[in-house]
Amino acid sequence: MTNQELQALVEKISQESFRQPFCHKASFNQRLKTTGGRYHLKSHDLDFNHLVFEKYGIEELAKVIKHELCHYHLHMAGRGYQHKDREFKQLLKKTGGSRFTPPLITMTYQVYQCEKCGQEVKRRRKLDTERFVCGDCLGKLKFLKTIEA
Ligand SMILES: [Zn+2]
Ligand SMILES: [Zn+2]
Repeated sequence: MTNQELQALVEKISQESFRQPFCHKASFNQRLKTTGGRYHLKSHDLDFNHLVFEKYGIEELAKVIKHELCHYHLHMAGRGYQHKDREFKQLLKKTGGSRFTPPLITMTYQVYQCEKCGQEVKRRRKLDTERFVCGDCLGKLKFLKTIEA
């Protein structure tokens, strides 16, 4: 998805779900890591994390857009635009915006299995299977697979 497509999508959602135009700039920001989107109080522009679209598709992105548009429209109207404000919570519920950003960073885990009892052991780092043994039965661990979660 390009910035132009994103801009068009934000304008469309603004019209359809808020019945008001979005008259500022929406773009993808590479620097956003775990945040799905951001509203800039001074410029009124919106930033979005491309990973939301890549990992979860357009429906989840639409929910994040609605969340940011809640900040946007309430702030522009001089209403309670912060997460703690009742107006924000109500508008978020009404428009179906996301309450939390889905996990955007994947972590790699090494999975080992005990040769004796069969228990699986998940670790962020690689284990030295000559030195580390199963915590339950002290059996030997063997490398099983690498997973992302
Ligand atoms: Zn927010
Ligand atoms: Zn074991």
